[in-house]
Amino acid sequence: MPNRGAVFSLSLAICSFSRPPQAVLFEDHMNPIGVFASVDAGLGVSWDVIRRLSVPTIQLHAPHPSSRNAETIRRLRGQLQEMNVMVTAVFGGFDGESYEDIPTVGRTIGLVPPATRAARLKEMLEISDFALGLGCDTVALHIGVVPHERSDKDRDAIIEVTRVLCDHCAANDQFLHLETGQETADDLIAFIEDCERDNLRINFDPANMILYGMGKPLEALRQLAPWVRSVHCKDGTWSDQPGVAWGREVPLGEGDVDMRGYLQTLHDIGYAGPLTIEREIPQDPVRQFREVEQAVRLLESLRNEIFA
Ligand code: MG
Repeated sequence: MPNRGAVFSLSLAICSFSRPPQAVLFEDHMNPIGVFASVDAGLGVSWDVIRRLSVPTIQLHAPHPSSRNAETIRRLRGQLQEMNVMVTAVFGGFDGESYEDIPTVGRTIGLVPPATRAARLKEMLEISDFALGLGCDTVALHIGVVPHERSDKDRDAIIEVTRVLCDHCAANDQFLHLETGQETADDLIAFIEDCERDNLRINFDPANMILYGMGKPLEALRQLAPWVRSVHCKDGTWSDQPGVAWGREVPLGEGDVDMRGYLQTLHDIGYAGPLTIEREIPQDPVRQFREVEQAVRLLESLRNEIFA
C-alpha cells in the first residue's frame, strides 16, 4: 500500500533533478490550490487566467500533438517560472474523443477503443516525455470505460497497454494517475490491482462519480484513499437516470458533492496534495473565470478552517 501521508513531498523529492525551482515554494505548505489549465487543447482555463488567479499550481492538459515539442517546453517553463506556478500533473487527451453522452464516452475515450489504442498509447508515451521536460512527475488520463468482467479478453489488452505506459512513466520517475468516474470504486480498485504497477494511482474527481452515476463520492474517496495522489475540485448534480444520462456540472459548492464534507474527508485520509479546480465550460470564458475565482475563495476558506 502506498504511504499516503508522505506522497506529496516524496513526489517532489523524486523529480528534484528536473523540477522547476518554484516547487520549493510549497514544500512546507499542504494542499496548495490549483486550476486545470489548457494551452491549445482540452477544457481547462486559458493561460492568462492562471496569472489573474494567482494560484501556485496547475494541472495542464497536454498541448495538441503539433505543439508537443522542445520549443513549447522551453516557453512554458519560462512562463511558469515567471508566474511562480508549478505543474503538478499533465493530462493526456486525444483527437476523436467525445463526452457528448455516456454511450459516446464508452466508444471514444482513452485507451479503450481498439482501433486507436496503439496510436494513443504512443501519444501517451510522448506526453510522459513532454511532462518530464516540464519537470513534472505525474501523467494522468481518462483511460475510458474498461470492461469489468475479468474474463473479457479486451480487458487483458487494456491492462497490457496500461502496464506499458506505467513502465514508461516509471523510467521517467513518474506516476500515472487514472481519473475517476467512468466506473465504480470497486471496479477501479480491481483494475489497478490487476495492472500490478506501483506507480499507478488515482486522480479523484468527486463530481464525476455523480455525473456518471458511479457511486457516492465521499464513500468512494474513503475506499480509494490508498491510491489517491491528486484530486479535482468539481461539483455536479445527480441525473434522474444515473449511469444512463449525464448529471449536470455546476459551480463549486452548488452541487451534490458536499464541498465541506469533501475537504473534511481529504483531511481525514491524510491527503496532502494540490486541490485542483476544474470547471469545464471553456465555451464561456467570462463565466468560467468568475466561477473558478469563486471556487478558489471557497476552497481557501474551507481549507483554512478544516486543515488548520
Ligand atoms: Mg476531472
